Amino acid sequence: MIRYQLACEHEHAFEAWFGSIAAFEKQRARALVVCPQCGSTHVDRSPMAPAVVTGKAKVAAEKALPDTANLAVHSGTGTELQKLKATLLENSEAVGERFAEEARKIHFNEAEPRSIHGQASFDEARGLVEDGIPFGVLPILPSERN
Ligand SMILES: [Zn+2]
Repeated sequence: MIRYQLACEHEHAFEAWFGSIAAFEKQRARALVVCPQCGSTHVDRSPMAPAVVTGKAKVAAEKALPDTANLAVHSGTGTELQKLKATLLENSEAVGERFAEEARKIHFNEAEPRSIHGQASFDEARGLVEDGIPFGVLPILPSERN
């Protein structure tokens, strides 16, 4: 996993993990890399060099993930992923706090492949990163803010 320091057009800095630079570029091109603060997809890497996670360096992951986050996982193709982003909450199964458990089952083919969304604690999300299980952090939409 590679940690990237990212920033959106509004200079909101955040960090995200990707399997490779190719994976990052692919997701960015498909507007799947989203600023967690404003939802912008105009995201680019900050000049900071990426940090590669090895062994104890995984502690650095703590800064990349919020305490709790709304997460989503999908096992389909890229095209499906694009559609997923727009209609995710309608078309994916809400698994609530079982997100990490279900994502792991789907990843290891122990459960039916499907889209799910729910919440995960920081520790759960970090476990998914460490196991190489792909998931996305959903932006908080303006309509959800009070
Ligand atoms: Zn932003």
